[in-house]
Amino acid sequence: MPDGKPDMTRAWNFSAGPAALPEAVLRRAQAELLEWNGARASVMEVSHRGKAFEAMAARAEQDLRDLLAIPANYAVLFLQGGATQHFAQIPMNLCADGQRADYVVTGHWGEKAVTEAAVYSRPHVAASSATSNYTSIPPRESWDLDAHAAYVHITTNETIHGVEFPAIPDTGGVPLIADMSSDILSRPLDVSRFGVIYAGAQKNIGPSGLVVMIVREDLLQRTPRPLPKIFRYAEHAAAHSMLNTPNTWGWHLAGLTFRWLKEQGGPAEMERRNRAKADLLYGVIDGSGGFYKNPVEPAVRSRMNVPFTLHDPSLDAVFLRESEDAGLLALKGHRAVGGMRASIYNATPLEAVRALCDFMADFAKRHG
Ligand code: PMP
Repeated sequence: MPDGKPDMTRAWNFSAGPAALPEAVLRRAQAELLEWNGARASVMEVSHRGKAFEAMAARAEQDLRDLLAIPANYAVLFLQGGATQHFAQIPMNLCADGQRADYVVTGHWGEKAVTEAAVYSRPHVAASSATSNYTSIPPRESWDLDAHAAYVHITTNETIHGVEFPAIPDTGGVPLIADMSSDILSRPLDVSRFGVIYAGAQKNIGPSGLVVMIVREDLLQRTPRPLPKIFRYAEHAAAHSMLNTPNTWGWHLAGLTFRWLKEQGGPAEMERRNRAKADLLYGVIDGSGGFYKNPVEPAVRSRMNVPFTLHDPSLDAVFLRESEDAGLLALKGHRAVGGMRASIYNATPLEAVRALCDFMADFAKRHG
């Protein structure tokens, strides 16, 4: 290579996010990087107000609408700021000063959402699994909900703790808001059950710097306080997410991922594959005779992020070094839970999980 670096090949990447993207999407983006769509320039170098970009943007939105069967009374927004910004911006848009907003906290990201919500609302932790170290989801009957709350907020998949809602909870007439950053598009979804769905792109959609939001139109009409336009979701919806210059590259990559998902068979096929991958990996952990452990209650184990510990933590460094040498990247767990974590989003093929499982079985045999 011209810069003298060795010619490395791509490895299996288990990063929690930014995470592996479908190789076909990256190849397509690479092929079109310099000249895109007859524009004689890169997609990153053309106006977002031009016909070519507008057509791409509209197609990306339509493909997402098709994939999730998004009803007509929902707006689809392509925003910036990361999911973290929207922890704050959602209460800004939906809660009056001091109005109660109910939060069901099942891990680190739910905790963060509560903290950020406190400036523009009165967040109330309606249920939390903190006492179980976030290894469970409190049963729906135990949630302390208020029928007058602005909304109920959940994190459908907790990326760090590896806890995922197996089904959508019923919140009656109170709009359900879901941070789906790490499991959107991984299974079919009944969007009509939600008031707002939002997701940072860097796991199942595309590069970081983009947030996809699906919001029911009546919620856009809430005006609890004067806000600068740039913070108002209704303004973004009216401007088709082009109130200002959007993340054009992120939007384009998201569009390529949506097309890839359609070609692959959509969320139903993703669910089948994700289930097969997760079953394989949890099977190796549970069948290791205690060499590996996952602490999460089986019924709420994440199909996207699989945290696990080794029976002897002094082996952690060896496991990480050997796995990297074997072409298995980014298995270090989050510092909040320690140990290891394998993130196996839509773009991770079964073959990658098989390679990981083979490595883990062999490692346990050698070090057990
Ligand atoms: N929510 C969830 C579920 C996440 O996994 C993450 C990031 N990993 C965030 C929110 C925060 O996302 P961002 O860094 O894009 O603000």
